[in-house]
Amino acid sequence: MGSILVAKCPCGFEPEPIFAGGGMMEKYRTICLAPALCLRCESIVTANYWDEDARCPHCRGRVKFYDDPNLQASKEGVTNSLSEVFAWGSDNAKRFVLSDKFFYCPRCGEFKMEFRVDLPWD
Ligand SMILES: [Zn+2]
Ligand SMILES: [Zn+2]
Repeated sequence: MGSILVAKCPCGFEPEPIFAGGGMMEKYRTICLAPALCLRCESIVTANYWDEDARCPHCRGRVKFYDDPNLQASKEGVTNSLSEVFAWGSDNAKRFVLSDKFFYCPRCGEFKMEFRVDLPWD
């Protein structure tokens, strides 16, 4: 079972909800859907974190996953920055973790976007 992730930035940017995780599909062991940034589209897309050659579904360009430290900024005053908003995967597979931080917003270019989990899905 995965989760629905919603992102929101104070500039008004609110992308489509992201279906993250694996779900109950037959290939769930090799799929870890996660939010990623496409620099060419300047938008947030969903891509397979375990695909070493993950591409943007729209332009087929390379994407950067949102667990990349370059797309994150610590929240000021938050001491426990290790808390996780969303995590998927196991010890055997590369684990995708979204920490409780601010993230890069492709619309305003600032580190003010936040993710939160909305609903589980399966
Ligand atoms: Zn793209
Ligand atoms: Zn923004």
